[in-house]
Amino acid sequence: NPKAEDGHRHDYVNNAADAAGHEDYSEGEKCKNCAFWGGGDAEWGQCFHADFQGVQVNASGWCDEYVGA
Ligand code: SF4
Repeated sequence: NPKAEDGHRHDYVNNAADAAGHEDYSEGEKCKNCAFWGGGDAEWGQCFHADFQGVQVNASGWCDEYVGA
């Protein structure tokens, strides 16, 4: 699957640091520690959220659907 680009859905960014200032973002949140992350220790992996099917997201990315694992 192709890599998600910034803005793919839900204000997604490939680098969570770029979400600083977003009203839903808290420091430390990133795809790798999100309940939807399915990529294990990989840099790019699957997100199980319905709106991220067909793309890979970055372990260091973030979106406003983040759920703490
Ligand atoms: Fe990343 Fe979680 Fe958003 Fe998926 S739902 S893109 S794993 S923050």
